[in-house]
Amino acid sequence: MSGGKIYFEPVHVMGETETPGVLEVVLDIPHPNRMAMDMPGKNHGVAFKCIAEALRKADEYVDFAYYDKDGGGYLSGDEFNVLLIHAGYDVVGGKETAKGIHWGVYANCGALPEDENEDGVEGSMAPILDGVQLCARGKGCYTLIGEYRMTENQFFPHALGTIAHELGHSIGFHDLYDYDKQVEGWPLPYLFSLMGHGNYGNDEADNIYRRGFVPQHLDPFQKIRSGIMDTEDITADGEYISHPLSAENANILKIVTPDPKEYFLIENRQMTGFCKGIYRKTFGVNEKGEDCHFCENYKEGGVIIWHIDEDIFDTYSVIKRTNGSGTWLPDGETEGTERHDPGIVALFKNGFDENGLLKNDGVFVPGYPEDPFYRKGDVFNSNEFVSAATHTKSLNSFPEGYSQETYNLKIEFVDFDEATGDIKIRVAQTK
Ligand SMILES: [Zn+2]
Repeated sequence: MSGGKIYFEPVHVMGETETPGVLEVVLDIPHPNRMAMDMPGKNHGVAFKCIAEALRKADEYVDFAYYDKDGGGYLSGDEFNVLLIHAGYDVVGGKETAKGIHWGVYANCGALPEDENEDGVEGSMAPILDGVQLCARGKGCYTLIGEYRMTENQFFPHALGTIAHELGHSIGFHDLYDYDKQVEGWPLPYLFSLMGHGNYGNDEADNIYRRGFVPQHLDPFQKIRSGIMDTEDITADGEYISHPLSAENANILKIVTPDPKEYFLIENRQMTGFCKGIYRKTFGVNEKGEDCHFCENYKEGGVIIWHIDEDIFDTYSVIKRTNGSGTWLPDGETEGTERHDPGIVALFKNGFDENGLLKNDGVFVPGYPEDPFYRKGDVFNSNEFVSAATHTKSLNSFPEGYSQETYNLKIEFVDFDEATGDIKIRVAQTK
């Protein structure tokens, strides 16, 4: 997905290990779940202690100074990332246990206190090893997951999706899922961003659901912001080609509007590569008569159109969250007073109601529509889409001299090349 810009590499280990490049260390302390039960109210501290202790144990094998490429005295997310896989299960999948799987952790990305012991737990501060500080707040982070996760009522080794999402945080990606669920149908991208629910992309081989095994692409805006991809800018009306995200020549088309901070991004998600894991979801009833959801992977892909508002993103994304849950402050608290759309809205075809909220048709779960893709023969009209935040058509705001009454972006989907997956579009703006 990153085009080779983010990669795993065997750790630079000193001496002999059983598996070259992989470290297994045993700590002389209980599982953090056990410790948290024994020390109520100190669960952050005990979690940090386990991380710091694992790093100290690894120090014997790893020359951490080797990774401090800029000589800053600490390891940043661009230099070195720590992924800890704790024994046991991941709490997000439920708290059920199985034989040999008794304790759980929450998958997360975070950082260790630099100079004092949080919750008064000794040994929980960011360690300095080989002269460089690891996982310190404001400097780097850790990522941790449980070894197993319950999905579709059985334990699987924890899938790649969560690792991709959490490591995404460590290099600056923002969450795009709903934290407070205050408004039903808030326009979030769900499976269409790794930082929404895209970490749950599903492998349906053998008709077994394995959510998380085929994680989804990051949304195009954060790909651009993090330097993973560049855009091809469309500043004039005309015909352009959208190449599939999984192709060598993948592109993101950017349609510039009268507001330089608001624009539309075009991406082509054919059902190849990671995109194969994307699915729709229906309301249903299981054999016990209980309400449930049924998932089905899409058989045919197409174009997804995104409405980006950089002003919204930059105003509200003070920390790693961009989900419309109010104003988030640097300390992680929310004022909860002002609601905003994420600034990164996937305009699913036929997916919205007249208030700019995800449509609930009673059959498909909002955010998991029947068919969100534009294909040959379809036409996109921006004034059929209303901003959930400002209730204006097409854009959230208009510079002087422009208005929602006169402005319109029309995109016709004129051709499809079955061999390459390329889609030809015709762009026309009325300003
Ligand atoms: Zn997250």
